[in-house]
Amino acid sequence: MESHDFLMIGARLFRGDRDALDPEPVPLRVRDGRILALGPPALESPGPTEVIDLTGRFVIPGLIDAHVHLELDPTLSTPAEQLAIPDDEREGAMRVRARAMLAQGITTARDCGGGAFREHALRRAIDAGEWTGPRLLCCGQPITTPDGHCAFWGGIASTEREIDAVVARQVEAGSDWIKLMATGGVFTPGSRPSDTQFDAVALAAVVAAANRAGRPVAAHCHGTEGIAAALRAGVRTIEHASFAGPGGFGTAWDDALARELAAREVWVSPTVNAGWLRRIRDTAGEPTDFFRRMSSCLGRQRERGVRFVASTDAGIPGVFHDALAGGLEGLAAYASMRPVEVLRAATVDAAEALGVARETGRIAVGLSADLVVLRGDPTADLARLRDPERVMFRGRWFAGEALRSGPSADEG
Ligand SMILES: [Zn+2]
Repeated sequence: MESHDFLMIGARLFRGDRDALDPEPVPLRVRDGRILALGPPALESPGPTEVIDLTGRFVIPGLIDAHVHLELDPTLSTPAEQLAIPDDEREGAMRVRARAMLAQGITTARDCGGGAFREHALRRAIDAGEWTGPRLLCCGQPITTPDGHCAFWGGIASTEREIDAVVARQVEAGSDWIKLMATGGVFTPGSRPSDTQFDAVALAAVVAAANRAGRPVAAHCHGTEGIAAALRAGVRTIEHASFAGPGGFGTAWDDALARELAAREVWVSPTVNAGWLRRIRDTAGEPTDFFRRMSSCLGRQRERGVRFVASTDAGIPGVFHDALAGGLEGLAAYASMRPVEVLRAATVDAAEALGVARETGRIAVGLSADLVVLRGDPTADLARLRDPERVMFRGRWFAGEALRSGPSADEG
């Protein structure tokens, strides 16, 4: 019988809600899936326990990726190829991806869209203990226009009536969030990221229908106009926020809008993936045009006070589900964030943004025992996140071999 009571000693903790590691090692007691005690009370709690000596190690809260697509295969480049995969093969691949995510310390992820609620079924299997994977928050079919971004997933609506019906379908399927495509995207042939989808009335109708069902809205927004419209409609998270104009990402900066994003306290989920790391400098060692545009876009949002959560958009071409660590290094490089700020974006802040702060995102008494054990200090070097020594999710050590769903160096 597997033990469900652990006392970890010797490790230094990054708790999530403080701006640094604890200066000294802190004992941590886990029982029945939860953090039972920290510090001296951890040593004094009665009952048999398994003592784990983590001297020299660092323990952080489980990581959160606020934007993934479990059903997408990152080795494929078009929606047509994705849709051609047989169902059983796809479902098997989704399970492998979920397991690989957990092996890399990702204990919570928000799935930002699929076509057939397969991620909901996977979530049920994980929650029932029938499969190993992270805590999943699911959006289901993104709401989009006919021929709009990701219309192939079926969440098509034009009128208010259709919007209500699509939202109701997502809620019925057990979606935690409603995903809204407020602008076009890269992945859909014929769709342009800078173009706005839906007018203000329709956006307000989506938010109203979602809120009536008690669901927050995550809005995919590349174009600047779409960011503004979604923000004013009352969405909770802005995905991408790339300030795209006809010239591409980061070419339509709007300073007043960035200040408004900060003032309204929405969360921006900038979907920086590991592939961005290789786009910082060109072969001559000069900063690339992409880096100049996107570092300016993200850095200025941060300067204006915009709050970021960590996210990768895993599943899109070249972006592997278990490669959050590289994405976090990318976020630090592009947004000029310190490692501790990036760690917070991937733990405590993401938990707050996703509405699961009472469950996870920090090392605190009463929360789910979602923990990552590292050999090196991630507040000094985020690259330490790439190779977790052990992962605990809901009080259980991740037992599988460290499967990887693809190459660790991703193209994005
Ligand atoms: Zn996405």
